[in-house]
Amino acid sequence: MYSRTQNENGTYNTRCLFCFMTIASSIETDKELAGLEARHICPERALAELLELEKAARSRTHETTVA
Ligand SMILES: [Zn+2]
Repeated sequence: MYSRTQNENGTYNTRCLFCFMTIASSIETDKELAGLEARHICPERALAELLELEKAARSRTHETTVA
């Protein structure tokens, strides 16, 4: 999830909505923005995904215990 904003001169900035870090600024094309966003390795998102996996694993374990 990224938040893109446009500057007065028509270039773009993009910010990660997980860690609120500005990934890139003054970018001219959509393609370049997408590439930069794809390259962002987000510690916050990795952590969130890890917690989700753990939660899923735990609920699966719980289900089998009940059954
Ligand atoms: Zn991030």
